[in-house]
Amino acid sequence: MTKFKRILLKLSGESLMGEQGYGIDVQRLNEYAAQIKEIRDLGVQIGIVIGGGNIFRGLSGTGKGFDRVKGDQMGMCATVINSLALSSALGAIGVKARVLTAIRMEPIGEFYSKWKACEALERGEVVIMSAGTGNPYFTTDTGSSLRGIEIEADVMLKGTRVDGVYTADPEKDPSAEKFEKITYDEVLSRGLRVMDITAIAMCKENDFPIYVFNMDQPGNLRKVIDGEPIGTYVHA
Ligand code: UDP
Repeated sequence: MTKFKRILLKLSGESLMGEQGYGIDVQRLNEYAAQIKEIRDLGVQIGIVIGGGNIFRGLSGTGKGFDRVKGDQMGMCATVINSLALSSALGAIGVKARVLTAIRMEPIGEFYSKWKACEALERGEVVIMSAGTGNPYFTTDTGSSLRGIEIEADVMLKGTRVDGVYTADPEKDPSAEKFEKITYDEVLSRGLRVMDITAIAMCKENDFPIYVFNMDQPGNLRKVIDGEPIGTYVHA
């Protein structure tokens, strides 16, 4: 028995670029696909939301003169590009993956609905829910809270390049300490950058737990599914 039956896996666009400064690092992409296959083979139902920060972010675009709403739409298109890349990498290793989009753009992906997503999950397909929430001024963190709650996932697994939530940024402050568990309220009151406030608030209101772990280490996704305490659990 695995610890979780249905998960929402959140991957940041930024981690998809690996050691590159921009775009998609194929090695990282394939490593992610292999980790996803490993838990799919255990029978875990997997919904995925991917960011787009490796290609474009609306908010950073405003500094360069882009209109915020158009910039956010560009960001949402970036998440679709990443989703297609991941579905292609999964397909190449024999994992059936379906891309749904929050904005209509058939035939690139089917228009998202909870029912379509859940039916595909029950058939054992990996479901990648792209284009965030479909609205500007949101992030894919909020998109993944929303989709995870909608599809009634047991948990959001937030794959990052650090191995959990720390008292301070461990990449900058060597004295930072890691939490094994932390409440949503403490994340908010300490101003910890686990996810943006909107995303945390949604998880809190709907009692949807988040598990933060290092996805860049091959094998870690499987460890989380097996219940190994390698990250930080964010809960009510
Ligand atoms: N975005 C948006 N609405 C959403 C989700 C994403 O407008 O519901 C845009 C926003 O501009 C964001 C970009 O898409 O900056 C990429 O998403 P995000 O920054 O969350 O990606 P990540 O940081 O995870 O790579």
